[in-house]
Amino acid sequence: MDTRIRLSRRLRALGALVAFAIAPAVVAAPGGTVEFHNAYWFDGDGFTSGSRYVIDGVITEALPARIDRREDLGGRWVVPAFAEAHNHNLQNAWGAGRWRDMYLRDGVFHAAMLCGDAEGNQAVREALAGRDAPRVVFTSCVSSSDGHPLRMALREYRQADPDTGPEVVHDRHYVVMDTPADVAAKWPLVQAARPDLVKAILLHSEDPTRRGDPAMYGVNGLEPEVLPVLVERARADGLRVAAHTESAADFAVAVGAGVDIIAHLPGYRFWPGKTGGDYRIDDATIAAAAARGVVVVPTASIAELVAGNDLEALAAVQAVQADNLARLKAAGVPLAMGSDRFDATSIVEYDYLLAGGLFDRRELLRMLSVDTPRLLQPDARVGCLEDGCVASFVALDADPLAADDAIHRIGARVLEGRVLEID
Ligand SMILES: [Zn+2]
Repeated sequence: MDTRIRLSRRLRALGALVAFAIAPAVVAAPGGTVEFHNAYWFDGDGFTSGSRYVIDGVITEALPARIDRREDLGGRWVVPAFAEAHNHNLQNAWGAGRWRDMYLRDGVFHAAMLCGDAEGNQAVREALAGRDAPRVVFTSCVSSSDGHPLRMALREYRQADPDTGPEVVHDRHYVVMDTPADVAAKWPLVQAARPDLVKAILLHSEDPTRRGDPAMYGVNGLEPEVLPVLVERARADGLRVAAHTESAADFAVAVGAGVDIIAHLPGYRFWPGKTGGDYRIDDATIAAAAARGVVVVPTASIAELVAGNDLEALAAVQAVQADNLARLKAAGVPLAMGSDRFDATSIVEYDYLLAGGLFDRRELLRMLSVDTPRLLQPDARVGCLEDGCVASFVALDADPLAADDAIHRIGARVLEGRVLEID
């Protein structure tokens, strides 16, 4: 779900509060060789005590000839910086200005913004240039002319001008592809966003009755036959494709089309007339996802946001989530941590999945600080604390393998070798 626009007014107020509550990040004295000592370091499985040396933002384990500065980490537990694999809150300059501090405070130094466009991506690049900020993974968002996020975008525009038509949104806030031939025709619009990733929207693509139903205008998605053409074109440019899926059928279409990432677990809500069975992924599709190494970003915690006070609906959704997640896990489908929560980061997804009981603390810590950073920045040595890794890490006041809330208790933050000072 793209909550960007729907929640924007309420959250602008909240954002103002947060912006005032958090002092801007300050960079401690840079340069030279820094020794970080008195800490336990996560190796992906457990912790070992010792020191790390950082030169030019890169970790070295060997004792350097000269040390310019020492940082005492106070006996804390150090883990690679966290990552957020599905969000929208840094997708435009306004959001980047408001929410940058939240990412730094939460220790989330890698963040994928999953419905980007050329104008917004460029504005965010400029807003964050030269500042301490998470490494943003930019996307180009592709959907149908009657597809998500059209309704959401129109609703926002029509507050100012009730006569706003879809042409204001089309090929601007997302790229419209209604037929396979549109992929080649519209590809320059995708390239104009200079994306790291292409995001493709599927939304009950198995249900032809939605198309043409006025009630579903603006909340549909791509025709299934568009997706394999889009994946092939993206791959030719070295781009990966992430698919927004809502139904189990969407999930199967995405896996069949060869996408790299599935950005939602089906069934974070049930659409009218649908039941749990429409959202249960079949075993053969799960096996195919495992065989192809398709990464699934569950964004399971948005179920709570969508359900609101309807606890009965939430219980039904959570039963399907538990069933799907258990079988994805058992099949070895790689999972990544993302929240899709406008007001939060992937930290809330960690909490939700931990409470669900299917994953233990070690599994979730790996997902948050090892697997997801590597998914987002596959060409960089991130999500690790060994020789040669990018020195982006957080030091926790408690052992995250022993305490449920440890990932919330950050005592020190180091972003690409620089110690951040945040109140
Ligand atoms: Zn989203």
